[in-house]
Amino acid sequence: LAGADLRGLLLSRIRDVPDYPQPGVVFKDITPLLADPAAFGALTGALAELCVRHRADKVVGLEARGFILAAPAAARAGLGFVPVRKAGKLPGVTHRQAYELEYGTAEIEVLGDAFVPGERVLVIDDVLATGGTAEASLELIRRAGAEVAGLAVLMELGFLGGRARLAPALDGAPLEAL
Ligand code: AMP
Repeated sequence: LAGADLRGLLLSRIRDVPDYPQPGVVFKDITPLLADPAAFGALTGALAELCVRHRADKVVGLEARGFILAAPAAARAGLGFVPVRKAGKLPGVTHRQAYELEYGTAEIEVLGDAFVPGERVLVIDDVLATGGTAEASLELIRRAGAEVAGLAVLMELGFLGGRARLAPALDGAPLEAL
């Protein structure tokens, strides 16, 4: 599946949950998509194609829903998977990146030896909202010695302006929203 057919199938399996986790937010619940073998297979297949198209050497998933999409995409593309985790979960030497949340700050980490220098990495997450998480992950990956091959998300919430915010961090690398 590709193009409008893929988009239609994916959209039909994403559930809008109003006022979750707080009033005014429409949460995009992907659990119906994950539970449907046709939709989940089409999604991981499309993500694997993006790995090939953008000549990725490795695939990064962002905790936690990014893991669910990135790991099967990497396996289908014949590539290795690297988790970018919330701080304090990875053993040993890590690189760390702080970023701003609506209230306070958060930190993400990747293992110090996750990448061979210059390796091309495709970053995958489920939803691009404000772009803060993705921006921090791109900086983290470069600090860890890898090159950004691109960022791929299932869904982009365009009205939040994440794409414009990410332009400097992407530095010409593609942003793909399925
Ligand atoms: P942001 O850093 O604002 O781009 O937020 C992106 C992260 O928060 C992603 O890892 C998403 O899983 C999650 N997220 C943000 N907004 C939503 C939403 N409306 N529905 C589902 N997940 C969301």
